[in-house]
Amino acid sequence: MSEKKFAPETLMMSYGYDPHLSEGAVKCPIFQTSTFAFKNAEEGKAFFEVAKGTRKLGEGEHMGLIYSRINNPDLEILENRLTLWDGAEDAAVFESGMSAISTLLLEFLAPGDVIVHSSPVYGGTDHFIKHVLEKYKVTAFEMHEGEEYGAVKERLQKAGLLDRVALFYLETPANPTNALFDIEATAQLAKELSTDERPVYLAVDNTYMGPLWSQPLSHGADLVIYSATKYIGGHSDVIAGAVLGSKALVGRVKKLRTYLGSMAGPWTGWLLMRSLETLKIRMERQANSAKLIAEYLEKHPKVSKVYYLGLLSESENPEQYRIFKKQYSSSGAMVSFDVIGGEKAAFAFLNSLKLAHLAVSLGSTESLAEHPYSMTHAGVAEEDKDRLGLTPNMVRFSVGVEHPDDLIWDIEQALEKL
Ligand SMILES: *Cc1c(COP(=O)(O)O)cnc(C)c1O
Repeated sequence: MSEKKFAPETLMMSYGYDPHLSEGAVKCPIFQTSTFAFKNAEEGKAFFEVAKGTRKLGEGEHMGLIYSRINNPDLEILENRLTLWDGAEDAAVFESGMSAISTLLLEFLAPGDVIVHSSPVYGGTDHFIKHVLEKYKVTAFEMHEGEEYGAVKERLQKAGLLDRVALFYLETPANPTNALFDIEATAQLAKELSTDERPVYLAVDNTYMGPLWSQPLSHGADLVIYSATKYIGGHSDVIAGAVLGSKALVGRVKKLRTYLGSMAGPWTGWLLMRSLETLKIRMERQANSAKLIAEYLEKHPKVSKVYYLGLLSESENPEQYRIFKKQYSSSGAMVSFDVIGGEKAAFAFLNSLKLAHLAVSLGSTESLAEHPYSMTHAGVAEEDKDRLGLTPNMVRFSVGVEHPDDLIWDIEQALEKL
């Protein structure tokens, strides 16, 4: 029989790990060590030449282990496994989603540059772009949902910023409204603005739909970002992040990671490998239950609006529907909805849940509910909240792996309290 190309979910238990290098242990051990012994001084010298870039790896030679800020088996095996879902050449793992994002932004932006980003973006990302990058004279420019890409270009031109654009940054679907941005069209715009001396890259935060339901690299993105705290970790017990892309671009990110010291530790790497083994079955279960919950909510008289990709209507919202069909293979497991009765009703609902936890974060085995207006999106300016449809009535629900009937029971009894 010919060689079979295994699916990513099959490879999550074995890829990149040889038990016989670790006393036959079936599971990759935690390499809880800061430093690695060289066989001899010549080997140490050779490893450093590669790490410093003064010598390229030889045929069949692997980067040697030196020190856990540079590399560690738990991180390397995890990074190799992560590349499989996105079809990436390389991956870099970080101690948080924010350290992945901030390291990437610092690497690909310099004083005078412009970053064009979708809006809204994750609160921490928004703060980093508007308040930290500003100190380094990087100008932020917002792109809005539904805005024509020609119009974005024209606004950049009018503002005199077009030839300073260095990076496009998309978070799609947007949190908590599930608004979609077109990765392919943005990649096209980035390509139009690129020159040999000044390449313009596109980075996509794929936390909401990845790595299972969307592969931004296949739509033309250069870099993919994850808060691995969410679906990838999936058990609400670890904070972590990742950047994926070509060897060349991830190589740049890894180099800065070494100097910022923002890499994940071996224990985090081990926890994420444990999590990757069940990633697919968890996410599929979550998405199936989300569909049932969204359908239930849509019919409920105390719910005025449901934000869920599976309810997008081709006739009412053709542009968003077109992007959805092109970019995503599932409607995801995040459901936001407006209850009738303002903040008071939203709070009564949240305070009455018996099964779902009242907590921020998402993508975990247990369901989590929160109030974006006063919690995750409290920092969004009032006029932007209005524009985005971020109302005090809104509840965001991250669907877990519990039995869907139990979750619907919980939602039903909490809605009865309004
Ligand atoms: C949570 C989150 C982040 C930040 O990740 P941390 O792991 O909390 O640092 C970034 N982007 C999105 C979309 C997120 O949901």
